[in-house]
Amino acid sequence: MLDGLAVAARIRGEIAPQVREFTSRHGRPPGLAIVLVGHNPASEVYVRNKLKAGDEAGFRADLERLPESAALDDVLTLVARLNASPAHDGILVQAPLPRSLGADAAAEVFDAIAPHKDVDGFTPGNVGRLVQGRPTLVPCTPLGIIELLAREGIAIAGRRACIIGRSDIVGKPMALLLLQRDATVTICHSKTPDLAGVARQADILVAAVGRAGLVTRNFVKPGAVVIDVGMNTLTDSSVAAAWYPQGHPRLASFQKSGRLLVGDVHPEVADVAGALTPVPGGVGPLTIAMLMANTLRAAQLVVGG
Ligand code: NAD
Repeated sequence: MLDGLAVAARIRGEIAPQVREFTSRHGRPPGLAIVLVGHNPASEVYVRNKLKAGDEAGFRADLERLPESAALDDVLTLVARLNASPAHDGILVQAPLPRSLGADAAAEVFDAIAPHKDVDGFTPGNVGRLVQGRPTLVPCTPLGIIELLAREGIAIAGRRACIIGRSDIVGKPMALLLLQRDATVTICHSKTPDLAGVARQADILVAAVGRAGLVTRNFVKPGAVVIDVGMNTLTDSSVAAAWYPQGHPRLASFQKSGRLLVGDVHPEVADVAGALTPVPGGVGPLTIAMLMANTLRAAQLVVGG
């Protein structure tokens, strides 16, 4: 098991003294603003964790809330204010935005973030720089996975990597980062025929789909490194009973609360994979650690460091 929590704690421990140094040199801490529109319960949890991590690392971390009823213009006005704010080096707009804002709202809002404050790396300029191999601010989840592979001494160059999922947030930037490190990369998605057969060729398999247990043993080459990005809530007791033997702590936890946070990777994969990230405790904490790293980087860019 690859311990994402431990690696994330190390990264955050390395960032903290740099934050202190920035603060004493510039008379203010690096600042992160998180925009949360509405009351999505999962978003509330993610945002709370990000703010807590920011506080602990010595950042100024502000929550900017808008009600569910906010109009697109309200969100854009808030982003414009934060773009101009000298106290905020990083801006993160928590997705998803309320559906009432319309299907194009997320793109419009992300486009409005000043590229040098775009700590999620979603704006077209930052995506373009990543494509061209001269990244500045890179999406946190794939960046965290690269950091994990590097720190665990897992080679990338010359190896076959397969990513299941082609989102702008995870799949595509993950593919670009692995490609830039000389992996031979395949991107799979919902229309890929023989998904298991393609995945089984990979030395490094990244699952970023959002489907509990999609990646079973037959997707995995023996000894492969498997990175589980998925975050799914399991509520079906028959699935939980099939996945975990009686007495397993995860089954006990399910029986207690009626729900369980699980990834896209079936537990049976642990028998064949050479290394595997758990859910929880794998990619999630790394994502937050890289948000801290990106905010510090954005602050350093502002002061020309
Ligand atoms: P998304 O819904 O934007 O993209 C999912 C992708 O999976 C799509 O490209 C789609 O083509 C592909 N897909 C869907 N069904 C498929 C199937 N049956 N076979 C193969 N491919 C299929 O999701 P996302 O934003 O990339 O997130 C993916 C998962 O990762 C979600 O569970 C999300 O919660 C999780 N996530 C976790 C973190 C973290 O920090 N741990 C960060 C971001 C996302």
